[in-house]
Amino acid sequence: MVEECIHICANGQKCRRIPKRGHKFCNAHRAPRRRRRLLEEDHSFHQQIFDYLDRLEAMNLDDLLSETSDALASIHGLIDRRSSRCDRAAFLEPNTNTTSTLNSYR
Ligand SMILES: [Zn+2]
Repeated sequence: MVEECIHICANGQKCRRIPKRGHKFCNAHRAPRRRRRLLEEDHSFHQQIFDYLDRLEAMNLDDLLSETSDALASIHGLIDRRSSRCDRAAFLEPNTNTTSTLNSYR
């Protein structure tokens, strides 16, 4: 039996690409080794994220939506034509939802 990538796309369906033997994720969904190491070892990164979370939780809805929209805009460069359809949808859906909510909230 051929193993399939276990990544779940934003639409709730499995990626279904075939990963390298012995891997659970396809190349598109497997974090590069260097990034995995940084995520596991860099405690200041985790502290930075926790501080960011504290700041988000203190915001009112309007500021939270603006912050989310800015954060999504800052990662837009990571998504390009070479990204998988699944990854593009995973970016565009929350971006569209945030913009729509921000527009209707104001
Ligand atoms: Zn995949």
